[in-house]
Amino acid sequence: MDDELKNFLREIPKMDSLLSLPWVADAIESIGRDAARHTLEEVIAELRRSARDGTADLSVPPREQLEDRMRAAMDLRSSSSLRKVINATGVVVHTNLGRSALPKSALDAIARVSAGYSNLEYDLARGERGQRNSHVEWLVGQLSGAEASVVVNNNAAAVLLALSAVARGREVIVSAGELVEIGGSFRIPDILAFSGAKSVVVGCTNRTHPKDYIGAITDDTAMILKVHPSNYRVLGFTEEVPRAELAKIAHDRGLIFMEDLGSGLIEPIGMKGIGEEPTVRECIEQGVDLVTFSGDKLLGGPQMGVIAGRRDLIDRMRKDQIMRAMRVDKMTLAAFEEIMRLYLQGRSGEIPTVAMLRADRDELEARAVRLREMIACSCAHVPSLEVEVAEADDAVGGGSYPATALPGWGVAVTMRGGVSPEAIAARLRAEEPAVIGGIRDGAIIFHVRTLVDGDDRHIADALARILRA
Ligand SMILES: *Cc1c(COP(=O)(O)O)cnc(C)c1O
Repeated sequence: MDDELKNFLREIPKMDSLLSLPWVADAIESIGRDAARHTLEEVIAELRRSARDGTADLSVPPREQLEDRMRAAMDLRSSSSLRKVINATGVVVHTNLGRSALPKSALDAIARVSAGYSNLEYDLARGERGQRNSHVEWLVGQLSGAEASVVVNNNAAAVLLALSAVARGREVIVSAGELVEIGGSFRIPDILAFSGAKSVVVGCTNRTHPKDYIGAITDDTAMILKVHPSNYRVLGFTEEVPRAELAKIAHDRGLIFMEDLGSGLIEPIGMKGIGEEPTVRECIEQGVDLVTFSGDKLLGGPQMGVIAGRRDLIDRMRKDQIMRAMRVDKMTLAAFEEIMRLYLQGRSGEIPTVAMLRADRDELEARAVRLREMIACSCAHVPSLEVEVAEADDAVGGGSYPATALPGWGVAVTMRGGVSPEAIAARLRAEEPAVIGGIRDGAIIFHVRTLVDGDDRHIADALARILRA
């Protein structure tokens, strides 16, 4: 070890001498003595590490560096970790950014039932214990045509519960082309194994025929499973068995036909040129016995999963032990009920996800022009800034329509001379609320499709603040 490093490490003050310093006292006041001490220990360890691996500047005294690092750590620790973010990426169902924004009426519903007690599991008419699921089952039925339904934590849970309740210990036939992985940790073969069902894989990646399914059926078969390929597409020489035909194959032989639909489209989105996504109702009408879908993808509601379909099968799920471990909270139910009522009343345009997907190009262009004006105005003091309206490719996200870009509009911001878009993007992420945009050809792009009211003002002000500094 060289002398400079040795000296530096020796100069790092002892914990006891640090605890009485003013900047540590501030930390103690804001998060308490124990948590401040633990944070300080981490900061010291981190400084030692960075000195040893050569990333710390050894010419700055350790005490000063500790103070800077401690202040940064405290800024993080003494404010909320889960924060509001402005989504200027143009990806509508953005899983990393919380998927679906909820409408005001759903937030009101959450507040109404959560600030105090509610009839979550209480039958007010009879004055006795009721069913948590009863609040939304009728609505799901109206909007999908399904006889019965249960709701759980997310769609992954829905698939697991459904398989476990009706196919545990028996065979489930699934096409090789549908053994997908979604979001890293949800893999169809693993979920099948975990549920206790035995998977029987038929067909090839690109083609599966009726005879493949029929040939695989044995006395031990419980189910034919169809899975929405979500985040990928096989193009070219492909073939899958149509839903209605699979339903007939299953029903003629007394088997259950289940589909993991993923997105949970309640009504057609009606976007031109972006292909077909089946609605939940179409699945039920074409003979699917059980359909599972997410609450927070194309449906536009809270994180949740729904299993809808045949009453006798759904009743088996209600009794399954796993159900208890997957039940949803009152806040989720309140938001979901409200969203489903908006669909029922023909007011789906008030659901932000749905509105963002349907936004037409002229409207988006007009919004981009407005945002450009706001930025140009608030950043008039920065002559090296170029602000332009630009066409931009948006995306549905959430594993839906992976191969289709949504044509959209945005505002491209470039700094001539030195400042990289990455550096500006990093500063925007540190704003409150944080702003996440895209980067293309040396510019930051703010896609307007995914902005909500007031976001454009905040983006313009944040940029002005950053560029002034
Ligand atoms: C997204 C998706 C899932 C997982 O749903 P979560 O609600 O995220 O748990 C499962 N299956 C399919 C086909 C999906 O698209």
